[in-house]
Amino acid sequence: MTHQDEELLRRAIELAARARAGGNPPFGSLLAGPDGAILAEEHNTSITDRDITAHPELKLARWAARELDPATAAATTMYTSCQPCGMCAGAIARSGLGRVVYALSGEQLDTLKPPGSAFTDAPAEGPALFDEARVPVEGYYL
Ligand SMILES: [Zn+2]
Repeated sequence: MTHQDEELLRRAIELAARARAGGNPPFGSLLAGPDGAILAEEHNTSITDRDITAHPELKLARWAARELDPATAAATTMYTSCQPCGMCAGAIARSGLGRVVYALSGEQLDTLKPPGSAFTDAPAEGPALFDEARVPVEGYYL
């Protein structure tokens, strides 16, 4: 991790503090180009937007997929105050961002939360109805 990485991470931490000051969960992120120039910044707005998906990493991944060509996206780095959650990690992978640099790990975050506050997966059943479910999919990815 370079000095520039640490400076950009400090900016992400400032955005996290801004989120908290505005009544939201304390997380912030930014997207930087290869020269360290900040392309976009976001903070968590899941409370004020009443939107469980309003994580800054997800908002930036969506922005990058919409606004950047694939080569430009691949040359960016996301700096984020905390390691992306599973939802955001999936969106980051789909958006083609080049690199993620985070401050707190998910494990470190858990030590700052009360016990038992982790999200639990809903029970899932499947696979089922393969012959019917494959019909709209077959040939799509060719
Ligand atoms: Zn997330």
